Amino acid sequence: MEFELYSSVGPKGRELLLASPRAAHTQGDVHAMHAPVLVLNASYEPINVCAARRAIVLVLKGVAMAEEENGHHLHAARFAIRVPSVIRLLEYRRIPHQTRALSRKNILLRDRNSCQYCGELLPASELTLDHVVPRSRGGASTWENLVTCCHSCNRRKGNQLPLEARMKLLREPRAFNLHTSRHIMRMMGHSDAKWRKYLFY
Ligand SMILES: [Zn+2]
Repeated sequence: MEFELYSSVGPKGRELLLASPRAAHTQGDVHAMHAPVLVLNASYEPINVCAARRAIVLVLKGVAMAEEENGHHLHAARFAIRVPSVIRLLEYRRIPHQTRALSRKNILLRDRNSCQYCGELLPASELTLDHVVPRSRGGASTWENLVTCCHSCNRRKGNQLPLEARMKLLREPRAFNLHTSRHIMRMMGHSDAKWRKYLFY
């Protein structure tokens, strides 16, 4: 069982889910299947977010149990499954102190899809990565030197340091850690009251 954060609710996951017409009879079912589900460790510690479909698989396999339901039912051939909103693993899993793989996707996640210079919130396709210290000047490709950037800020900055371009980073780029993950889980859970008691502690 892998625990890549949010991978199952990204656009790719959605495509996968939509590509399974047998499991999804109606629009409502499709929607219910990729609703985000909070995954708790056996200790009730929030550790992940996954798509409802994956959560249901974990429950059916006996790996997790539903702690909260979202009120929807998923209609399979002969029966309806209550869609969980929060599940909890039955066995405690040791989660390594999360050092996420350095990737474009994770940098965008860390920066919440907003340009770190002008603050504009944009879809991933309209964002790029900026090396704070340009590569041509010895800047490394690290968590601390890569930030999400819109195309216009990226052009404006060019091969300069932020100071030279008179641009200022909105926040210091840091490695993606468990704290950041929690923060994102909280933001995602903001609309789901059932997540709150597990996240706001
Ligand atoms: Zn910008």
